[in-house]
Amino acid sequence: MEKRAVTMEKLVALCKARGIIFPGSEIYGGMGNTWDYGPVGVEIKNNIKRAWWKRFVQESDNSFGVDAAILMNSRVWEASGHTTSFSDPKMDCKQCKTRHRADNLIEAHSKGAVNPDVMSNEDMEAYIREHKVHCPNCGGFDWTPIRTFNLMFETSRGVTDESQNKIYLRPETAQGEFVNFLNVQRTTRAKVPFGIAQIGKAFRNEITPGNFIFRTIEFEQMEHQWFCKDGTDAEFYAQFKEKAFTFLVDLGFKKEHLRFHDHDKLAHYAKAACDIQYLYPMGWQELNGIHNRTDYDLSRHQEYSGKTMTYIDPVNGERFIPYVIEYSIGADRLMLAVLSEAYDEEPLEGGDVRNVLRFHPAIAAYKAAVLPLQKNLSPQAKELLATLKKYFSVTYDEAGSIGKRYRRQDEIGTPFCITADFDTVENGTFTVRDRDTMSQIRLDANGIIAFLTEKTAF
Ligand code: ATP
Repeated sequence: MEKRAVTMEKLVALCKARGIIFPGSEIYGGMGNTWDYGPVGVEIKNNIKRAWWKRFVQESDNSFGVDAAILMNSRVWEASGHTTSFSDPKMDCKQCKTRHRADNLIEAHSKGAVNPDVMSNEDMEAYIREHKVHCPNCGGFDWTPIRTFNLMFETSRGVTDESQNKIYLRPETAQGEFVNFLNVQRTTRAKVPFGIAQIGKAFRNEITPGNFIFRTIEFEQMEHQWFCKDGTDAEFYAQFKEKAFTFLVDLGFKKEHLRFHDHDKLAHYAKAACDIQYLYPMGWQELNGIHNRTDYDLSRHQEYSGKTMTYIDPVNGERFIPYVIEYSIGADRLMLAVLSEAYDEEPLEGGDVRNVLRFHPAIAAYKAAVLPLQKNLSPQAKELLATLKKYFSVTYDEAGSIGKRYRRQDEIGTPFCITADFDTVENGTFTVRDRDTMSQIRLDANGIIAFLTEKTAF
């Protein structure tokens, strides 16, 4: 079996030390399952979102973006079924008072051999009793019965008590795409099949341990809903499985670190559903989902809003409510996967080890670091920096030995280090060092712009 250098502890420590991700509200002792992106992390995450948008909107023939409101009319969540059934089966340990998801306890206890998705609450309670599943926190065996908790965060609008009105922080971005289906179709004059994409925050009152940014209570989703005619749905479902997988491979994921997981138990409205799982440091876990949601969502919104969601085919006048193929991936969960995949410890001659994040240059926070070999070369370096900044996200470092500065950039995954040295004064060329191979070439400023443009494209 492949031995990987990455562990969750190392990633958390690296992220904190290098300004990638900090614990949320840290000076107040933190807040469970919340994290803040630092100066390097925000660039990486933005690049991940840009790469996704490019692939699924910009390069798509018939997909369009929206940015819908986080707070939506509460009827939306009645129509979608979230107010009644968006819940997890929770049990409390009576000894240490910690709360756990019964399905997760069973999955962990059986090492994935038992699928709790197909079990009722009674079945899960019976399994936990019979197999003496202990509390992972204190080792006790004293559980409350399973209770279901809605995962949506509630808030209220209005300033006086009388005008209080319960509203929810959206638990998924998808509904913003569904309710705007006809707005987008009419304004773009799109013909079915077409897609609507959105990137935005979602909120879930998750109580289970987060595994760093894998499971948080506030996270970003990147979702693409493909509206198509009944009968063509199976083919598009297969296409989106493929497209979602290819996107990950193009980002630099090894195929053997990814796998499909088809769902045995489907929601009552779904025709097919699968996840792509990634081999995270804590094991195989869902990275994204692809679902054939039939015409359920649009039909429900038609029913609850009283407004038609029917599409009229401009060629033959046929009226129908489209089927939806949903592809949904968490930006934070993808970020954790990208960091895990990129993390490497490379033994060097002399027994030294260098830490490198080997991600795709398009994802790197900085496309290049400009470094003067010595302080007196900083005018040349700063001039190049100002030129490059017009085109790329670039950083600058003049503190410490050149070797140490290279290492710092390796640790945050900067693909190229550009050094102003004595030849720069002579002929205007710079040394360009490659992060992965550590090999060097010489280029002038225009050459560097062309080089970085080519190397950092996704
Ligand atoms: P899980 O089973 O892990 O809770 P899910 O099946 O509920 O996930 P979906 O509702 O299908 O997830 O959401 C789509 C995607 O959003 C997931 O594949 C994941 O990438 C991301 N996601 C969902 N919940 C969270 C969360 N709490 N924190 C971070 N990302 C999340």
